[in-house]
Amino acid sequence: MQGVHSVTIKGTGVVAGIAYAQAIWVRPRPELPSAGETVPEEAREAEFERFVAAADTVATRLIDRSHHHEGSAGEVLKATAGMVKDRGWRKAARKFINSGQAAENATVAATDKFVALFESAGGLMAERTTDLKDIRDRVLAELRGEPEPGLPEIEGQAVLFADDLSPADTATLDTDLVVALVTELGGPTSHTAIIARQLNLPCIVAVGSAIREIDNDEFVLIDGAMGTIIIGADPESSQESVKESRARAAVVAKWRGPAKTQDGHRVQLLANVADGNAARLAADSQAEGIGLYRTEMSFLSATEEPGVQEQARIYRKVFDAFPESKVVIRTLDAGSDKPIAYANMAAEENPALGVRGLRIANNNEPLLARQLDAIALAADGRGDDAPTWVMAPMVATQREAKWFAGLCRERGLIAGAMIEVPAAALMADKLMPFLDFVSIGTNDLTQYTMAADRLSPQLAYLTDPWQPAVLRLIRHTCVIGHDTQTPVGVCGEAAADPLLACVLTGLGVNSLSAASTALPGVGAQLADVDLETCKQAADAALESVGAAAAREAVRELILG
Ligand code: PEP
Ligand code: MG
Repeated sequence: MQGVHSVTIKGTGVVAGIAYAQAIWVRPRPELPSAGETVPEEAREAEFERFVAAADTVATRLIDRSHHHEGSAGEVLKATAGMVKDRGWRKAARKFINSGQAAENATVAATDKFVALFESAGGLMAERTTDLKDIRDRVLAELRGEPEPGLPEIEGQAVLFADDLSPADTATLDTDLVVALVTELGGPTSHTAIIARQLNLPCIVAVGSAIREIDNDEFVLIDGAMGTIIIGADPESSQESVKESRARAAVVAKWRGPAKTQDGHRVQLLANVADGNAARLAADSQAEGIGLYRTEMSFLSATEEPGVQEQARIYRKVFDAFPESKVVIRTLDAGSDKPIAYANMAAEENPALGVRGLRIANNNEPLLARQLDAIALAADGRGDDAPTWVMAPMVATQREAKWFAGLCRERGLIAGAMIEVPAAALMADKLMPFLDFVSIGTNDLTQYTMAADRLSPQLAYLTDPWQPAVLRLIRHTCVIGHDTQTPVGVCGEAAADPLLACVLTGLGVNSLSAASTALPGVGAQLADVDLETCKQAADAALESVGAAAAREAVRELILG
């Protein structure tokens, strides 16, 4: 699928599916006004009327459009129109105009005020700031007599690219033309993701600044399950992948868990989540539980450590989404690409190789102890059918595994470790006797095995979990897991790849945890193969010379 000069960029895949089309960028937002001259007092009333007229026009336009769309698309448009009419926002604009600002500046100032409020509320509210900025931009354009910002005219099929799609844009997409959505910002619960899910459009969010490498009109291959955007992919094999993906999508949509191979070998499919919202979405999916709750994601913008009670309240939101199933919660993986103000040290030369994950607790055990107290508090009252498993990120030595397990057991928690540092995989026989379970983090295990930054788009050919070197470490971990009767899961992105899931099953992995949108694809693939084929696929991948060869060998074996 990848051409010789292809570049792969990664984001968060929120809706599975493959698309190949030209990239079209959504019309940029209007320039924000610079500080203008003060509006004389006698002209301020008229200035406010100008603002109201523009806001009313935008609201009316949105409501008119809402009449042409059913279901949540119509609701989103109505909700956006409601925000344009919001009295609090208009009152704030009036105040700025009364102080002498022009309508354009007052629109920006009033919006900034509400954006700050929403951001400080965090969570879902913070994700709604895109809606506010969208309103601001529409009103600004109207005030200046410019065309409405947003979707351009689309002629052929297109993958839509944007910093963040506004709810109004995503609600009115023509799905005959738009075949996938990709955004720089946003999250799994942002409007873009919600609407993409409803329209079943492959969708990738939170790509970050690497998205700027994609030019208008450039052909891109999108894999919504893997969260990858490939520039320079081979057109013929890409078209072939799209065709296969469409046929497959029909089968996948019908798949229901629990997952097992054709001959009945069970593999537990679990969801990776970052907060209560994602956990609730997972509860509506085919996930049997949570396989990775990344706790640090809740604290990325926190400046101070939340107290034990406050942390417990946050964790409980995830536990409550799965009151009768397993939840694997991971202690803070702060550092490297996820710095947390209250946990991390000052800047480091090589943060990915620095004091991240469990290493932070070396010099700050109370921080970890308080988090474990909060987890125990949040998990209190969960029954035997809803076990709470706790794991540490970045474990590298037996001493770390033993120490962490001790802290968990003091609190009655089931203790595990992530296997994401190659040393932990190689020393699995020394670590596992102290642990109740392990979960392989293939994202970091690949990064550290291949000595390639997982964030580098140029090194995606190395940071590929199909690398036989990585698979050999996974095999070793599974062999020791089997010998010591320690459950072995995989919770990195590898678990979202249906063919690689067969390989992992063949290697002896007991559970696979991925974004909940990717699970039906994995489950449907496992249902098509027997365990013996999975073992053959594992052997073929292990004996391959590289990632591409491994992928090809397994594709040939399983898909023919
Ligand atoms: C991993 O490294 O594979 C993993 C699951 O953890 P994260 O992606 O959060 O580092
Ligand atoms: Mg990791």
